Amino acid sequence: MQNINFNFPAPIVDPSVETLRMDVRQFLADERRKGTFHPGADCWCAGIDTDFTRRLGQKGWIGVTWPKEYGGQELTALHRYVITEELLVAGAPVHAHWIADRQSGPLILQSGTKAMKEGILPRIAAGTCYFALGLSEPGAGSDLAAVRTRALPTEGGWQITGTKLWSSGAQVCEYMTVLARTSKVDENHRHAGLTQFLVRLDSPGVSIRGIRDMSGVEHFNETNFENVFVPDDAVLGAVGDGWKQITGELAMERSGPERFLSTFVALERAFSEMAAMPENSHQKAVLGRLVARIRALRSMSLGIATLLQNGQSPEVEAAIVKDLGTRFEQEIVEKLREFWPIFMSQNSGDDFQNLLSESLLRQPSFTLRGGTNEILKGIIARGLGLR
Ligand SMILES: Cc1cc2nc3c(=O)[nH]c(=O)nc-3n(C[C@H](O)[C@H](O)[C@H](O)COP(=O)(O)OP(=O)(O)OC[C@H]3O[C@@H](n4cnc5c(N)ncnc54)[C@H](O)[C@@H]3O)c2cc1C
Repeated sequence: MQNINFNFPAPIVDPSVETLRMDVRQFLADERRKGTFHPGADCWCAGIDTDFTRRLGQKGWIGVTWPKEYGGQELTALHRYVITEELLVAGAPVHAHWIADRQSGPLILQSGTKAMKEGILPRIAAGTCYFALGLSEPGAGSDLAAVRTRALPTEGGWQITGTKLWSSGAQVCEYMTVLARTSKVDENHRHAGLTQFLVRLDSPGVSIRGIRDMSGVEHFNETNFENVFVPDDAVLGAVGDGWKQITGELAMERSGPERFLSTFVALERAFSEMAAMPENSHQKAVLGRLVARIRALRSMSLGIATLLQNGQSPEVEAAIVKDLGTRFEQEIVEKLREFWPIFMSQNSGDDFQNLLSESLLRQPSFTLRGGTNEILKGIIARGLGLR
């Protein structure tokens, strides 16, 4: 077996990171006091509130690692980490800007034109411009090389036709990054001939249909493209770069605290419930073990933030965090229901029950979105030299 060293270095935390954490915490406490949001489970996927996102933008907490000339603050990946962590722990409605902050903005920084950087990044940072990811299709999810959305060259640009599925948040987004086939499939190089385009979702020929999930939320969509024209400069990077770009985004997409904190609000609330109940040492031990595992996952995820800060792309480490983290955030719900039976009502008037049932209904998606756990295990096995 190939000798593989997984690397989760301990971060060197500048004191300004903790100062920022306290500022974000204070902001969230103030927002809660004003009643502007109600903590929700899976808030980074199901919670869309463009006003809330705008207020975060005004605080300067979106795109914090980006250059100042594009609306950023030139802070580190660890500064970004504590902002995202505090937002998740509070169950704040952050989906509107999540994708743009996490990966579309960095993609534009890396592969976008000057006009994209100047025209779009400052608006993302201000919390007014949102992005959706156009990767999955009806016949292509795990196997993205099977995408059938095609872009054909035409005068001055490209014409895109196809269907993208499960596009989270597209209903409020200005843009989607669309992975399309720009040349015929070569069975020996299936990942070649794919290109990412920046597509305005108000372009003629685009239609968006909401899909309701079993928790009753319509946060993802089917997005259709019927001969949608995009100009030549809508190509992200170079034609044929699509595969390289999306694999490059994976470490960012899979390693953050959203991969183990989606049900944290329910766990935190369980501690308050427990405090009001007669002493139960078994219950304490079960909940205590969950907290210990959060510490471990957090250390691993912070290690990846450190590697990203150092310019590395730790795809295998990110797959490990996502595999362990998403199974863990599902397990939280299963452990809690041992002590608090879940009555399937999301509007019961009982906040804790609402959080539990929301978590239960949303948890099947955790191990699917962003790459299923079977696919992650394949990546880890390859990293170990087993494939
Ligand atoms: C809440 C949510 C939000 C999402 N948001 C977005 C989004 O914004 N944009 C976007 O593009 N997509 C999005 N997705 C789609 C997501 O990325 C896909 O669902 C995922 O990649 C799996 O693809 P699939 O659904 O086509 O399943 P399939 O690929 O058909 O997989 C079905 C099953 O087969 C298994 N399987 C497939 N291939 C292999 C293999 N080679 N080895 C072992 N097992 C395998 C899978 O693990 C899975 O269990 C979202 C999904 C969810 C649930």
